[in-house]
Amino acid sequence: MPSPATEFFKKEGQSPQQPLALELHDLTKVFKTGRAGHSVTAVNKVSLSIARGEVLALVGESGSGKSTIARLIARLETPTSGYVSLNGQMIPNRLGRADLRKLRRRVQIIFQDPYASLNALNSVGYALSRPLRIHKLADARTVGASVNALLERVGLSPGAAWAARRPGELSGGQRQRVVIARALAAQPELILADEPTSALDVSIRLDVMNLLLDLKDQAGLSMLFITHDLSGAHYMADRVAVMYAGSVVEIGPADAVIGQPQMPYTQLLRRAAPKFDEPPEAPDAVPLRGEVPDLKALPPGCAFEPRCPHAMPVCKSALPPLYEIAPGHQVRCVLFDPARAAKAGD
Ligand code: ADP
Ligand code: MG
Repeated sequence: MPSPATEFFKKEGQSPQQPLALELHDLTKVFKTGRAGHSVTAVNKVSLSIARGEVLALVGESGSGKSTIARLIARLETPTSGYVSLNGQMIPNRLGRADLRKLRRRVQIIFQDPYASLNALNSVGYALSRPLRIHKLADARTVGASVNALLERVGLSPGAAWAARRPGELSGGQRQRVVIARALAAQPELILADEPTSALDVSIRLDVMNLLLDLKDQAGLSMLFITHDLSGAHYMADRVAVMYAGSVVEIGPADAVIGQPQMPYTQLLRRAAPKFDEPPEAPDAVPLRGEVPDLKALPPGCAFEPRCPHAMPVCKSALPPLYEIAPGHQVRCVLFDPARAAKAGD
């Protein structure tokens, strides 16, 4: 009997394109930390999906589990429980090396720091030729032209001149363009962009975001865009998922989640956002109380409760489910529990 791993990728190429490029099903990652018995729940039963051609932004403070989600999808980490489906196919927990290589071709991560992503000793052309050769997307005869075409696609023209340079000769923005070209070289179906503009000068962030959107449209890609910047999420994404302490606490259309956030945590993020298309409210309108949560000792209830201006005793007892408040817009907060609303109306 074939192992599930070989079955997963045997179907690759034969399987028709599914409407959902990516699904996460109760995806969970618990890291065991040094001392005995200590563990960190970095990702806590996250379920979400990305449609083909869609951009989903993942927003939340540092430490909320965003990068771990990207690393689980690309299988740089193995899920503790739950699973990931790509194009309708569940990725098995155990993957052989050949299958892992195929997965890492189909799913490309763009990291925050283009300085660390490129080997300073190699030319740009070499960096781009590697994925083309490894994945057999070009041969010795065609690789040079393919590299040049990739560079021109990301706005580095003429490609041949940029291919000869080394990363040290490029600006941060140019380096991130090379990293994006390298991701495209693999002809992926899903891009995981983990704070791809955070390390760049503010003046060039918009250029890089526009480039990502153009390339996504041209290549029919789907994208997970990770950021802690709400205006960037609004600019890039069709839908936004807000993370807090490893859980998705609000998810829905970008205009609704960022324009009219409902979860008290998203409202707090929104008020703290330096600029958006409306003037920010007074920063002290709702006091920010308490500390960021300790993931080693999460409370049984809502992790945001200690900081929440609307906290009630019930919030301490159990983590609420996601309540649907409008089509496709869900909020993990007891304020939206229909049973509670019905009782209040009695
Ligand atoms: P974000 O990207 O939202 O800043 P991360 O996904 O990087 O958050 O981290 C989520 C939590 O998981 C943090 O508390 C972090 O310290 C912890 N974490 C991440 N990777 C590891 C690891 N390899 N070992 C132990 N803890 C980790
Ligand atoms: Mg991160």
